Amino acid sequence: PFFKEYLPANVYERPVLKAKLNANENPYGPAPQAIEALKNAASSGNRYAWGSLSELTEKIAAKEKVETKNIMMGPGSSDLLEKVGIVLFMKPGNVVSADPSYMSLIHVAESVGATWKPVPLASDWSHDLDAMAAAVDENTKLVYVCNPNNPTGSITDSGKLREFCKTVSKKAPVFVDEAYLEFMEDGAKQSMVSLVAEGYDVIVARTFSKIHGMAGLRVGYMVAQPALIEKIQTITRGGMGITQTSLAAALASMDAADFLTMSREKNAEVREYVTTTVKQMGYKPVPSSTSFLIFPIAMDGKEFLKNMYEKQVGVRAFEFMDKNWCRVSMGTMDEAKLFTEALASVLS
Ligand code: PLP
Repeated sequence: PFFKEYLPANVYERPVLKAKLNANENPYGPAPQAIEALKNAASSGNRYAWGSLSELTEKIAAKEKVETKNIMMGPGSSDLLEKVGIVLFMKPGNVVSADPSYMSLIHVAESVGATWKPVPLASDWSHDLDAMAAAVDENTKLVYVCNPNNPTGSITDSGKLREFCKTVSKKAPVFVDEAYLEFMEDGAKQSMVSLVAEGYDVIVARTFSKIHGMAGLRVGYMVAQPALIEKIQTITRGGMGITQTSLAAALASMDAADFLTMSREKNAEVREYVTTTVKQMGYKPVPSSTSFLIFPIAMDGKEFLKNMYEKQVGVRAFEFMDKNWCRVSMGTMDEAKLFTEALASVLS
């Protein structure tokens, strides 16, 4: 494994930032109607939220064209990534995923005893699906695919991924993390969620943290075969961690079509600006389908972060493939301009 992340010393100490571009948050959210619904739900905070939870589950099932028994809710998709990582690896086995990719599930699985089988991304930054299929063996308990991928922002062709899921899920469940899919114009078409209704052992995770701009409100879900959900829910409770207010916000946000379109369009506009500007500065960003962009820098990651945080611009730094990388989230256009100015001065 050659994937390493640097964290600035003060990252958990609430640094004062002018541009917070370090956590792939949506600067426009939550949707106005979600905020309104959240306020109205506050007075129901004395009650457990089972009613709202089943209402949201039904609404999501209808949207994803599955049954409610195919849905497990969680306070953010992190909760579901972690629960799958824990429950599937209570018995020894390995997990196959790309490197670099999003590490939440992998880290939890490793900490309960799983072996990680990393497969480098292909040269076009897509998942190397042939190599991943070849890495699956009799001890593989799960395959994790993040599409589009974090931290690279790159997309894997949905037709090829669909075939991969159909074949490989006969050997081990395939977990497809679609946290950023809705930032693509045809995101719904690229989703693997229909494979669940077709009966494949595929798990699709989605979140309200990104396109819905609700990262701090904590709502996510996964769509999977009922047997897998039952297995997880005999050990841990799905949805217990979601508050009455967050459920109300998520219900309202699902109807906020104008807000979701605005988020996607503004994100694309800012991404275009940042991509063009860093290219003009001589960097080679990975083409992004998401709300963040990554590119190699010629400076030690730790030093780079220190300098950027001194300028009150929060970004992330990684090291892989013998290079240091800057990952920047798409904030507002004003934040993007603060970022490009800080970058020019730090790396000049
Ligand atoms: N999956 C990916 C690929 C992510 O980048 C993130 C957060 O950044 C998550 C899942 C978890 O997000 P949340 O727990 O807020 O749903």
